Amino acid sequence: MKHNTWILSTSLVLLSTLLLLVFSLSTLGEIERVYKDQTAQGTEALKRQFLYHSVNNQIKRIDTQRAIHQVEYQKQLDHITWHMDTSYEADIESFPQVVSSFFSQDSSSPWTAVLWRRETSEVIVDNKEVIPESAPPIDIVNSLLHGFQLYELHSYAPYTLFVGIPQAVIDEEVKQYIADEIYASNYPENSYIWVNEVINYEGGDNYAIRRIHPNLRDSVGVYLSTNMTDVQGNTPYKTELEGINKDGELYFTYFFKKLDSDVISEKLTYARLYKDFDWIVAMGIHLDDLAMYVEETANKSAGIVDQITPIFIGAIILLFVLHSVLLIVLEHQRNRMQAKSLEDQAYRDPLTGIGNRRSGLLALKKAYLESRKGNGAGVISLFDIDYFKHINDTFGHDAGDRCLIQLTETLQELACSKDALFRWGGDEFLLVCPPLTAEQVNQMAESLLSAARNVEVEHETTKITLTISLGLVSFLPSDTSEIDTFKRADGALYQAKEAGRNRFVTLL
Ligand code: GH3
Ligand code: MG
Repeated sequence: MKHNTWILSTSLVLLSTLLLLVFSLSTLGEIERVYKDQTAQGTEALKRQFLYHSVNNQIKRIDTQRAIHQVEYQKQLDHITWHMDTSYEADIESFPQVVSSFFSQDSSSPWTAVLWRRETSEVIVDNKEVIPESAPPIDIVNSLLHGFQLYELHSYAPYTLFVGIPQAVIDEEVKQYIADEIYASNYPENSYIWVNEVINYEGGDNYAIRRIHPNLRDSVGVYLSTNMTDVQGNTPYKTELEGINKDGELYFTYFFKKLDSDVISEKLTYARLYKDFDWIVAMGIHLDDLAMYVEETANKSAGIVDQITPIFIGAIILLFVLHSVLLIVLEHQRNRMQAKSLEDQAYRDPLTGIGNRRSGLLALKKAYLESRKGNGAGVISLFDIDYFKHINDTFGHDAGDRCLIQLTETLQELACSKDALFRWGGDEFLLVCPPLTAEQVNQMAESLLSAARNVEVEHETTKITLTISLGLVSFLPSDTSEIDTFKRADGALYQAKEAGRNRFVTLL
């Protein structure tokens, strides 16, 4: 039964240890997986944000440059106007000459200027040759106006002067500025911005022309087709154009050569249309480093898990061993206590708690052997309650029991030592003492007698009192065994009883 309990308890601990181990390892695995996924997702989200902001900032800079150019040319136009006004006011005669020479300068080259005589429509200055021969200049100028971002149409009687700058000229400058800026830009992770200009939003061959491309500068000016495929057979230009047509922007991936390398890898791309220029401004970032980064992160976390796991398993095994040791120790302790309790049962009187006849006999034998060794003769006393039967009969067996207990407690205090008193049987007790003088023996006997007389056992309304009779003897050299000594003590007790009880008889 005990063995079964041990097996059950150990199996339970082993089972829960294993469950804990399996659960913990699977949890660690799960944490690693979530960590890996989160790292991949988080890194990709960061890359997306990086692309989004880089492209949109570039587009904002196009707008900014257009605004700056507008302001610059407006200033120039104001200056030109001021110059023309003052020249006209200074000398009308030479005015046509001033206009002609001013607009033939290099610094005036972006400007279109037409001066004609209003009356005759005679064209005097036409620096960009916009007026066909014999066509009325005012009509031509009016038809051109929508293509000009800035212009002045001014009457300097008898002349009319048109000065303007075409939208295309400013846009071209801005485009060149932006191209220079993109080529000079540096972005992390080998990424860069490129620009394709859409010619046909329907797609097909020659749907667009490459305008800016830091990785393939030779390809600038090349016509593109939506049928073009990457190394994996995808049609990224088609995907891009569809996304642009639908939402004006999109993210997509395709396979492309890395900057300054021949390695081909998947590229996450963000593209946005800048409608005024028909520009698709795009930026890509390779994703292979993402896999590397995630792998690296996963390896690091796996390293930590690898480090933790043996410690963890070790701790669990240690816990199991400790538990087993504890179980064994407890089992051992329980066995010892059980053995002790069995021993107690064998050598102790259950009613009074003192040694029983068996231990009395051992003590007797020991004392006898001591006396044999010449270490002096010990003293023993056998005593018995007087008329105990009567007490039992009068007050009941329980009251008798209490008399036995109380008498034992009292006399144990006065005995030569605490473990010297034994219940021999019934109302009879044995006392085994070391060598004593006759005087000491008498004193002890007297004190035991008087103590017994003073015992008062409460019973209902009365107090039971009792007396004892004692026989005291010492070991004699003539004794052949402790039984001889005991018999003499029994004889002495008998004499005490015979002599009237409540007394002691010594036969030393
Ligand atoms: P004496 O003075 O001659 O000793 O007379 P006595 O009545 O004491 O006679 P004896 O010693 O022969 O009787 C002992 C009695 O003690 C017998 C029995 O009823 C009683 N007795 C023995 N063991 C127990 C016990 O454990 N409890 C109680 N209550 N009585 C016991
Ligand atoms: Mg008796």
